[in-house]
Amino acid sequence: MPLYKFRCAQGCPDFTEQHPISSPPDTAACVQCGQPARRMIGAPALGSGASSAMRLQDTTRATADTPAVVDRIPQRKRPPAPVSTNPLHRKLPRP
Ligand SMILES: [Zn+2]
Repeated sequence: MPLYKFRCAQGCPDFTEQHPISSPPDTAACVQCGQPARRMIGAPALGSGASSAMRLQDTTRATADTPAVVDRIPQRKRPPAPVSTNPLHRKLPRP
């Protein structure tokens, strides 16, 4: 079951609860004041990231979100000049 995040209108801290993905409630009782708290729209937390596939995905996403810091603009490598193996091309004028 995914975790859903709720926000209380009274200013209490946000809290999460587990509910079936087929019937997530629109409101839940606030854990601090007991008033109805509205469910926030967001990505459901489907897993805890314990599996190796989830760890790899999290690592890849973290790398994409925070790229390595550089102190200068990376230099572009020029592609090597095309080399022809045709012997007739040697007779062509050179630039
Ligand atoms: Zn509250």
